[in-house]
Amino acid sequence: MTQYGFYFDSSRCTGCKTCELACKDYKDLDQTTAFRVVYDYEGGSFSGSGNQLSQDVFSYHVSRACNHCDEPACLVACPSGAFSKDSDTGLMVIDEEVCIGFQACINACPYKAPRFNKETEKARKCDGCINRVKQNLKPICVEACPLRALEFDDIDVLRSKYGDNASIAPLPTPDETMPNLVVKMAPATKPSGDTIGILANPKEVD
Ligand code: SF4
Ligand code: SF4
Repeated sequence: MTQYGFYFDSSRCTGCKTCELACKDYKDLDQTTAFRVVYDYEGGSFSGSGNQLSQDVFSYHVSRACNHCDEPACLVACPSGAFSKDSDTGLMVIDEEVCIGFQACINACPYKAPRFNKETEKARKCDGCINRVKQNLKPICVEACPLRALEFDDIDVLRSKYGDNASIAPLPTPDETMPNLVVKMAPATKPSGDTIGILANPKEVD
């Protein structure tokens, strides 16, 4: 089985949210639902006075969807067996026919990737655009990014090209679920667990 995953280059991302909107359009999601979200993370302060000011302010963006993890908390938590890893791609898919709307996956996933559909009372989430991937196309978010900050490929290929880091605030530490995600850090970025910065757009990503 090839295990596919995402690469995110924080040095390229401008926080434009084209990826998020392209996904919402392609998946026909309502106004309050997003499978890919973009966190605005910032912090630091100014000190001194007059022309002796110094500062350590920073601001950056993190685009994230489901990370199709190797130790998926969603799958473990689901009491109805609605989650499975696709045998060809390693993408985590949810069978909405099997989902009983218990929402255990939503509470268990540290990335908050599964979302509750109030109309159907089922959970749903990013499936890595599995139908596109099986036609040798990239996920729609990757195609849409104007800065080429996202890539999608065999995770072994991505790790050989870009290393094996998936730690970036405000995402959780990767050892929780072993995400198939590679992150390139920019000079401003902080690792997961950072306590200096704050999430500046909580209502957008909740
Ligand atoms: S990111 Fe969350 S929903 Fe996606 S595979 Fe990992 S634990 Fe499951
Ligand atoms: S489309 Fe690209 S640059 Fe814009 S927020 Fe998404 S990842 Fe960042």
